[in-house]
Amino acid sequence: SFTIEQVKALVAEYPDFPEKGILFRDIFPIFHHPAAVECLVEHFVERIRSLDKRADVIVGLDARGFLFGPLIALKLNVPFVPVRKQGKLPGNVVSATYVKEYGPDVFDMQADSIKKGQNVVIVDDLLATGGSCKGAEDLVAKLQGNVILNAFVIKLVGLEGDKKLRAPTYALIEC
Ligand code: IMP
Repeated sequence: SFTIEQVKALVAEYPDFPEKGILFRDIFPIFHHPAAVECLVEHFVERIRSLDKRADVIVGLDARGFLFGPLIALKLNVPFVPVRKQGKLPGNVVSATYVKEYGPDVFDMQADSIKKGQNVVIVDDLLATGGSCKGAEDLVAKLQGNVILNAFVIKLVGLEGDKKLRAPTYALIEC
């Protein structure tokens, strides 16, 4: 079995990816070890259970939030809801524009996926500028849900992404 410190040590760093000057953090090595995934998911589940409000829904961001968001939701026995890039989800959707490095982009969420007043935890692999997570928070707000936590494997603290966000953030690794 893995300790949470051993799980953290599996996150890999790639200088100059996808372009020069960027240090890319890669969480995929965690997924090479089922016991590490188990430890990671249990860590988030305990963190979410310790909140003073009960989480009703887990929302995961396209695409790496889809790796462990559903596993957390399964353990908590609550629904998982995906946020996807515009045009990928069928049926009625709500949309929110968010700001990325090279300009605006749009996220969609299915309109029937969150009910008014539900408490939501948003999950993703990494918080950088906070633009994507802000987009997800806006979608939850459009459906009148209430974000109680934004949870990440990694937070790049220097970028102060959490200043853009309404709900508190939690990250396993702060760097
Ligand atoms: P933000 O919107 O600036 O906070 O950027 C966060 C988004 O970019 C997340 O969806 C991440 O998956 C992705 N991202 C940014 N930097 C990295 C990285 O170093 N590793 C993995 N994903 C990253």
